[in-house]
Amino acid sequence: MSQYLSAEEVSFRDEVRAFIKVNLPPELATKARRQSHIAKADVVAWHKILYKRGWSAPSWPTEYGGTGWTPAQRFIFEDECAAADAPPLSFFGVSMIGPVLYTFGTEAQKARYLPGIVSMDTHWCQGYSEPGAGSDLASLRTRADSDGDVYVVNGSKIWTSDAHKADMMFCLVRTDPEAKQQRGISFLLIDMKSPGLTVSPLISIDGGHTLNEVFFDNVRVPKENLVGEEHKGWTYAKFLLGHERVMSAEVARSKRRLAMLKTIARIEQANGAPLIEDPHFASRLAAVEIEMMALDLTNHRLLVRGEATDAMAAASMMKLRGSEVMQKLTELTVDALGFVGLPYAAADDGSHQSTGAPAYADGRVEDYLFRRAATIYAGSSETQRNILAKSIFGH
Ligand SMILES: Cc1cc2nc3c(=O)[nH]c(=O)nc-3n(C[C@H](O)[C@H](O)[C@H](O)COP(=O)(O)OP(=O)(O)OC[C@H]3O[C@@H](n4cnc5c(N)ncnc54)[C@H](O)[C@@H]3O)c2cc1C
Repeated sequence: MSQYLSAEEVSFRDEVRAFIKVNLPPELATKARRQSHIAKADVVAWHKILYKRGWSAPSWPTEYGGTGWTPAQRFIFEDECAAADAPPLSFFGVSMIGPVLYTFGTEAQKARYLPGIVSMDTHWCQGYSEPGAGSDLASLRTRADSDGDVYVVNGSKIWTSDAHKADMMFCLVRTDPEAKQQRGISFLLIDMKSPGLTVSPLISIDGGHTLNEVFFDNVRVPKENLVGEEHKGWTYAKFLLGHERVMSAEVARSKRRLAMLKTIARIEQANGAPLIEDPHFASRLAAVEIEMMALDLTNHRLLVRGEATDAMAAASMMKLRGSEVMQKLTELTVDALGFVGLPYAAADDGSHQSTGAPAYADGRVEDYLFRRAATIYAGSSETQRNILAKSIFGH
């Protein structure tokens, strides 16, 4: 996208690039490149480096500790971080609950929670999905019954990423069982150390541990932890989903995946020549690269030029195409590696262990396996297509 940058933006890009070069520890970059399940300590380490520079909440307004950057600056920052293999920023804190809190939260909630997100002293997870309530999220059944100045929460959540690392959960609960689906839902902030709350691990296909089940057995949550109005949680949930979907398109990270794929194809051989020169492979590579470029341009049009007329539909389109392109890239990468990609193991704690594969291969199969879920999490592809159809046909 460098052809679209103004002189000031080029100088901002150079500033970011120089900062990352000096401040991103190489061992952190290596881990971030190799691991789909990055250890909490590594995410925190990078976040704290950015925090010191005032860059830990790129999309937030300055009054809450954000950068106040323009969309173009955010776009550049994302690109530079991904290109350098910087660990991703806290998705649940910075990109999801933070904007909900500074938009809909009380002054007390903002004062209590926003500083811990910017400094990464508080870790969050997202309690939306339940067994039986994923695509049809509004059918969720975890209930919160009023009891004086607390809610008593009972039920369970599933696929809760990072619940085992989190201090707090933002959670959708049913506060009015009589109301029709979306209407009786509220948005609660729940302390993960609350008595009656338990977390149980789910191991994903790559052998890593990010996912969990969370059970609530008479968990008492102070009413001051209700975000916005009671029974109106769906409004805040949807606002947050828009942010989640744009982020989960992972455009900048996929550009990095494309660069890594090209490196691999220059090293690996086919019929005595670099794989990248093989006509069949080259045409597959060109096809996915064209899709990647189109995605990048579309992302630029939406985020930087603000061309979307329907933000929710645009977020769904980005999520849909972003996850598909990501999967094509990871598939072609595994094809390019062949047997070199096979030595692979995930450690019990979910962190990746090197198994002697060459550096350029390490972590690629893990990425391929874990990203099978990219067309499921943050709303499946079918769900995104339904949203797009509805935005066009209206029902
Ligand atoms: C890696 C990963 C991380 C996740 N992290 C979190 C998290 O942190 N917090 C959280 O709350 N959730 C999380 N999720 C859950 C995720 O949001 C759900 O898995 C997703 O919304 C799909 O719901 P489901 O699994 O219940 O599948 P279902 O809704 O049961 O869907 C099953 C299949 O049916 C299709 N389908 C369903 N309804 C329709 C329809 N109306 N039209 C056409 N097709 C349909 C779906 O597309 C899918 O292919 C995560 C999931 C994964 C895989």
